[in-house]
Amino acid sequence: MNVLVTGGTGFVGGALVEHLVRKGHQVSLLSRRKGKDRRIGWFLLQDGRFPAESLDGVEIVINLAGENIGASRWTKATKSRILDSRVSLTGQIVSACQRRREQGDKLPRLLINASAVGYYGTSEETIFTEEDGPGSGFLAEVCRRWEAAAEEASPLGIRLIRLRLGVVFGPGGGMLAKMDKPFRYGLGGVVGTGRQWISWVHRDDVLGVIDQAIGDASMNGAYNLCSPNPVTMAELCHALARRLGGRAWATVPAYALRLAFGEMADEMLLSGQRVLPKRLSEAGYPFRHSRLEEALAAIYR
Ligand code: NDP
Repeated sequence: MNVLVTGGTGFVGGALVEHLVRKGHQVSLLSRRKGKDRRIGWFLLQDGRFPAESLDGVEIVINLAGENIGASRWTKATKSRILDSRVSLTGQIVSACQRRREQGDKLPRLLINASAVGYYGTSEETIFTEEDGPGSGFLAEVCRRWEAAAEEASPLGIRLIRLRLGVVFGPGGGMLAKMDKPFRYGLGGVVGTGRQWISWVHRDDVLGVIDQAIGDASMNGAYNLCSPNPVTMAELCHALARRLGGRAWATVPAYALRLAFGEMADEMLLSGQRVLPKRLSEAGYPFRHSRLEEALAAIYR
């Protein structure tokens, strides 16, 4: 199939593009930089402007692009880039589809739009499923507006899947790559109280769910894309220490994280959410990595 991927140079998108090419799809990629991979068609996102011609012949759009959420302190400017890069690009993709319809051009039949479990806000007690509404906080607001922009595709008859991703674990990137170094030297510690929930997913399962979403025309709407077994931060840190050959002996105190990361520490490191993939379970998706220990074993072979 002819697939356009935005954010296809990132941690998730890079693996996805490789996977789709391997499966024989015709893949093109939208990026702020021109790439050299001749197996893939490249379209440039210049000054944030979506090139409408990138939709020619496209059957599926997979929209992952957005300013990295954990790369730097959340200043006013960073927060506005995090929000605008997602909401504006998604809005432009949908507008380009609207124009195609007005001109009698063929539309993509499926839009798979990323979102995050941050949609639900944070809590130590609540167990969230897709039946819950949006929570509060900056990330919840970003996810709500990102999904709302994508929703505009539905009235055009485009099947829309909103994937609320948990923290994606995989080799060579994402949150694990940011936190595993001290554990490698036996210096790792539990972050904050350790009671905050991490709803995680192995990157292989992100690819697996996208495969299923492409093939199963009955899938529609929001799906929590996280393992059925979320863990607390303490469980994650201890499991990481065991896997990398040490102990999580220390605690990384909240004040130090707040000093280093500001507001981002509160929403991303010191609190979390316990989310279950209810709709994926109902759709019969067989998770390849549903337990943390086994997922870490696969990542740190
Ligand atoms: P990355 O940060 O690794 O990649 C994001 C991609 O978006 C980049 O390759 C980049 O492409 C593009 N991008 C970055 N900044 C901008 C910008 N200002 N405007 C337009 N495009 C931009 O993200 P991941 O692969 O980790 O995640 C993919 C998506 O899934 C993201 O939107 C993320 O928010 C979401 N998600 C990820 C989670 C995770 O744990 N990884 C958890 C929950 C949600 P290029 O440089 O080629 O333009």
